[in-house]
Amino acid sequence: MKIQLLPSTFNAQGCAKQEQRLTCYLVDDRVAIDAGSIALSLSDEQRDTVRDIIVTHPHMDHIASLPIFVDDLFGFLKSPIRIHATEEVIELLERDIFNWTVYPRFSELKNDYGPVMEYVPFSVGVEFPVAHLRVTAVNVNHIVPTVGLIVTDGKTTLALSSDTAETEDFWTLVNGTPRIDALLIEASFPNSMAKLAEDSRHFTPESLSRELRKLDHNGIDILTVHLKPAYREKVAEELKALAIPKLEIMETGRCYEW
Ligand SMILES: [Zn+2]
Ligand SMILES: [Zn+2]
Repeated sequence: MKIQLLPSTFNAQGCAKQEQRLTCYLVDDRVAIDAGSIALSLSDEQRDTVRDIIVTHPHMDHIASLPIFVDDLFGFLKSPIRIHATEEVIELLERDIFNWTVYPRFSELKNDYGPVMEYVPFSVGVEFPVAHLRVTAVNVNHIVPTVGLIVTDGKTTLALSSDTAETEDFWTLVNGTPRIDALLIEASFPNSMAKLAEDSRHFTPESLSRELRKLDHNGIDILTVHLKPAYREKVAEELKALAIPKLEIMETGRCYEW
C-alpha cells in the first residue's frame, strides 16, 4: 500500500514545502482520506483516478478544497465522486458547506452522465469497502464528530488517528487488529501550549508520548502529522527529544510504501 500526505504549502517558485496547513492523504493514487488540499496538490493523473474520499471530520483544514475538486471535474465525471463519512459528518457538510451559499449542493446535481457526487454513509465499528480497500472507523476525542481509521488492502494495514486528544476506543481497535504496519498520529502543538491543545482536543509531544503507552504493537512505524506550521520547529524538536524508536515526522509529498 502506498500513502502520500499531499503538500499544502508552496514557496515563491511554486515548489512544495513541508509545512502542513491542510490534511489530505492519498492511498494508492485512488482513495483520498480527507480533502484539505485535494484540489491543489493532485497530479493530473491522480485527478483522473481519485473517486473515493473518506472525510474524518468537517473541520476546514480537512475539507477546504473538496468543493473545488468536485467543481473542477463536474463536466467530465462519468461516475459520481463518493464521499464516505458518518451520517453526522454528512449532515454537517450539507448544512455548512454544500448549502447553495458557500457552494452548490453537488449531491443534487447531475452532468450529462449522471450524478456528480454521492454520499456513502458508514457506521463506526463496522468494516466497509472503499474502492480496493477495507476500512473500519472509530470515534476519537475531538471537538466535532471525528473518526480515526484502520485501512487495509488485505496485505498492509494502516491506522490513522485523525485529529484527537486522549482517547480509548481507537486503541482498543488498533490493539485488537492482529497486524498494523504503520500508525499515523497527530502532534499539533508544542508542550508549552498544553492548555490550548487540551481545549481544542489535540496532542502535544508530551501528551502523545503518554498516549503511545496504550499501543500494544511494538516496533511499528509511527508517523506524526498535523504539526501546526507556526510551531513546527518546536514540535519537531520536542518529538525528537521523546526518542521513541521508529517515530518520525511524515514528510509531505513523499510516497510511503508498506
Ligand atoms: Zn480538527
Ligand atoms: Zn485538523
